[in-house]
Amino acid sequence: MNQEQVFWERVLQLAKDNLKQSAFDFFVSDARLLEVSGDTARIFLDSPFKKLFWEENLKGVIITAGFEIYNEQITVIYEFSPASSSPSQSRANSERRHHAQELNSSPVSPPITPFIHPDIKPQYTFTNFVQGDNNQWAKAAALAVSDNLGGLYNPLFIFGGPGLGKTHLLNAIGNKVLEDNPNARIKYLSSETFINDFLEHLRLNDMDNFKKTYRNLDLLLIDDIQSLRNKASTQEEFFHTFNALHENSKQIVLTSDRNPDYLDNLEERLVTRFKWGLTSEITPPDFETRIAILRNKCQEYPYEFTDDTLTYLAGQFNSNVRDLEGALKDIHLLATMRKLTEITVDVAAEAIRSRKQTNPQNMLVSIEKIQNEVGNFYGVSQKEIKGAKRVQNIVHARQVAMYLARELTDNSLPKIGKEFGGRDHTTVMHAYNKIKSLLAEDDSLEIELTTIRNKIR
Ligand code: ADP
Ligand code: MG
Repeated sequence: MNQEQVFWERVLQLAKDNLKQSAFDFFVSDARLLEVSGDTARIFLDSPFKKLFWEENLKGVIITAGFEIYNEQITVIYEFSPASSSPSQSRANSERRHHAQELNSSPVSPPITPFIHPDIKPQYTFTNFVQGDNNQWAKAAALAVSDNLGGLYNPLFIFGGPGLGKTHLLNAIGNKVLEDNPNARIKYLSSETFINDFLEHLRLNDMDNFKKTYRNLDLLLIDDIQSLRNKASTQEEFFHTFNALHENSKQIVLTSDRNPDYLDNLEERLVTRFKWGLTSEITPPDFETRIAILRNKCQEYPYEFTDDTLTYLAGQFNSNVRDLEGALKDIHLLATMRKLTEITVDVAAEAIRSRKQTNPQNMLVSIEKIQNEVGNFYGVSQKEIKGAKRVQNIVHARQVAMYLARELTDNSLPKIGKEFGGRDHTTVMHAYNKIKSLLAEDDSLEIELTTIRNKIR
């Protein structure tokens, strides 16, 4: 086998490991590697519609295989047969039919085909959306909407900061509705895409079709509605679309990075309508939820993550689920290159180093800062924390500070011991385990730690 073949075999192997069989069969099995030239691979797909799937789901696979075989980051150019160069809904539909026929004519028992919708991402479901205090109402509202389209919660307006799961929930609604009714007419799109689609139809003088498409839906899912600000003519069109759907009790779900009240430069009459149904906020996940999310996501990877590692990672990224996922991907890359079977804190720390450096929000904190903030919280001086006194409240503050130093910084145990008045690394380990077992029994300690962590960052 030449190097290209080895690379392609590896891509297929990793894709197989990472995807459900049905997804692999549909999206990957017909793909061909045309060539690898320099750091670019040309991959042939039999439909442009599959490109998005590759970009969303197989980027990591290509990178991993690229590093393993070429020791280089490989980028991909996707190519399609000339007949299929324009992606469109009808294309996707015939694709689906074609696929179904193939399966039906197959002599072996046909696998269950996932229902493929051209814009809805199958991987975002309610089942894999981890619930926490930060998102439980938004999730409940999204579920309620999926069960009762065009009911009380119309429109449903979900808002919150970046990477908190808005797009995930929007797609989950689409997937759930399709599961219950594969014929439901659904459109999922960002408001950017809505704007482009509108302008394109305007340019082609084809507004009738535009109206027909949008006003005949059962469910319209529009992501990042804030992008509609300052787009007067599109707002006008959206206003009519909204009214037409709403009057016919068709469901609309919108997301935004902010509360509707802060959507300045958006027509008042639109904002008023956004508030007709239910508005639900997603806030950043707390520590427990971050751990739960990591626990859930790390099951997708073929190795063990120690509990310490998950605790450590949850402490490193505090505002955004996308960062947590990114961290797992970094770890995956390192683990694959080194053929590791277990992910320890040290491996995790090494893998995510560059991610933290490029994200100022997650800059490493110093041990001194931790000692100061813990001291402030418990009314103990930094000197006492580093000192030898064995009074109960000082010992507790000292152990908490050591715990946080382990959780929030990259320092080794001996280094941490040194910063605490030259203590041995076993003392740090003991303090860490002690606080960890206390945390398991004592909710109020978790609240104390969260308060301190928020001060440190
Ligand atoms: P937003 O649209 O709010 O910017 P996304 O929906 O794109 O955020 O979420 C970013 C990533 O984090 C996605 O991969 C998503 O699956 C994941 N994610 C966010 N919240 C959760 C959650 N509660 N449970 C599981 N995954 C989540
Ligand atoms: Mg989004």
